[in-house]
Amino acid sequence: MSNSGPRIVITGASSGIGEAFALEYSARHPDAVFALFARRGDKLSDLARRLAPAKAWCFAIDITDREALLAAAEQFMAEFGAPDIVIANAGISAGTLTSERADAPVFRRIIDVNVVALFDSFAAFLPAMRARRAGTLVGIASVAGVRGLPGAGAYSASKAATITYLESLRLEERAHGIRVVTIAPGYIRTPMTAVNRYPMPFLMPVDAFARRAVDVIAAGRSFAVIPRSMRVVALALRMLPNWLYDALFARAPRKARVTDAHP
Ligand code: NAP
Repeated sequence: MSNSGPRIVITGASSGIGEAFALEYSARHPDAVFALFARRGDKLSDLARRLAPAKAWCFAIDITDREALLAAAEQFMAEFGAPDIVIANAGISAGTLTSERADAPVFRRIIDVNVVALFDSFAAFLPAMRARRAGTLVGIASVAGVRGLPGAGAYSASKAATITYLESLRLEERAHGIRVVTIAPGYIRTPMTAVNRYPMPFLMPVDAFARRAVDVIAAGRSFAVIPRSMRVVALALRMLPNWLYDALFARAPRKARVTDAHP
């Protein structure tokens, strides 16, 4: 079965930013074909209906299940060929403290989902994209990856790793016709931030975020902080000397911890 529209893979499409990406792309490209990944298949099926007339294939898997991910990627590509865009967006967030034994599996899980599965998501499609010498890989990082936030060591580390990894990937793929786009959201209104009980500067509606992010991807920008107002914050954070950063952030509000190993 062939389709003339763009083939777009989105992980973490069952809610928040991933869902908003799918809705924005389907509005711009009614002839698009989507591969949607997340654990909650019911949410994916519901979204797939809302994307019509664009077509959507739903893969209700845990993104850390590499075998399932590879099988799904092969299934999709056998039907439609290599994707034009892969957005590795699936992610989790929870507070973690090194002093708390119960947080060790949470730390590991955050790194697995946010970093290792991001790598696997690209790796599943990249050889086929390289063969066409075309396509864009989009990684969703975070402003939280610019400096280590207290109480969020796993999340900050995962997003710092994401930013650095994507930079390596960008250089590696340059000569192969593959673009790599890093997007670092500030605070976006999604279920992930709905649980936060502290002020979130420049909190942005998720549909506005998706509009801006799709523009950034279309323009082939290598790195973007969204919203723009957060870019200034990110730049300032990067430049602050440790003594000042420590004084300002030691008592910053903290993300809630979970003792569940699978947030
Ligand atoms: P969200 O609404 O909680 O969505 C997270 C998505 O990831 C869901 O679709 C979830 O689907 C999926 N997911 C989580 N674990 C998964 C797993 N093991 N396997 C497959 N899918 C999994 O959060 P969001 O705000 O849209 O976050 C999306 C991305 O943006 C994340 O990488 C996050 O770190 C990043 N980000 C968000 C903000 C913000 O302010 N919202 C800021 C910076 C960065 P299932 O639960 O159905 O599996």
